[in-house]
Amino acid sequence: MNKIGVHALTFIGDIENPSIEKCLSQVAKIGYDVMELPLLNPDALDTRFVSKAYEKFNIEPTVSLGLSYKTDIASEDQDRVKLGRELLFKALEKTIDVGSSNLCGVIHSALQKNDAPKTKLGYENSLSVIRDLAKKAEQNNVTLSLEVVNRYETNIMNTAEEAMNYINDLGDTNVKVHLDTYHMNIEENNYSEPIKKIGKDKLGMFHFGENHRGYLGSGHINFEETFKSLKEINYSGIITFESFSSEVVDPVLSNTLAVWRNLWSNSEDLAAEALKFIKNGLRP
Ligand code: MN
Repeated sequence: MNKIGVHALTFIGDIENPSIEKCLSQVAKIGYDVMELPLLNPDALDTRFVSKAYEKFNIEPTVSLGLSYKTDIASEDQDRVKLGRELLFKALEKTIDVGSSNLCGVIHSALQKNDAPKTKLGYENSLSVIRDLAKKAEQNNVTLSLEVVNRYETNIMNTAEEAMNYINDLGDTNVKVHLDTYHMNIEENNYSEPIKKIGKDKLGMFHFGENHRGYLGSGHINFEETFKSLKEINYSGIITFESFSSEVVDPVLSNTLAVWRNLWSNSEDLAAEALKFIKNGLRP
């Protein structure tokens, strides 16, 4: 059975100690195995406290990050690439320090709407940073999983096929792919082909999100096909529920993701329903 996680922004809009502790206690009470910690402000993260809090509630941490314009490693501007490289190595350190073996998200480029396609130089810059980061990650038993997101959030990889091309262009690394049904709904023909294209060996992380990012099962994502495909490839990794509403806001991330409306107001009910939905779907 896969471990099932929930994104912290389902409950909290910042990653200060009291918020993390409150979130972990709710997540544990509902019955999740994993809580994804978005590195909203890596410098301020108190890793000693946070790692102990995860242990206290017996929840496994995963860490995610989205780069920004200023830290875009897929840029042609060497200053931004350098800042992005520094941020990613810092994020990896924080990942190790909170006791996580997973760093995922949009770490290959800026999480932003671009006004032009990727460039060869920008793409090479991204590969070069991720190659170096992957070496350090591997030495520390951390798996990097690159999230495939829709065209309005990156120009580096919008489909599983582009992600596999990127992985091949990296050469010999242990870097994996992170798929998300919310993004697949926008860019892919269906849910089975991308999951099978990535396959068990390269699928490192999986996000469950509805097409509007609200309650699972209330929209039109084909979760039946998704569950079936994950079972067919024997995916044994983490499945994380990701949802956003104007009820819980981080000013930067919520605006980047265009979270403008209220899709739910009760985090606990939302997360409990999502856990039930995922457990049901995973039954053989
Ligand atoms: Mn996601």
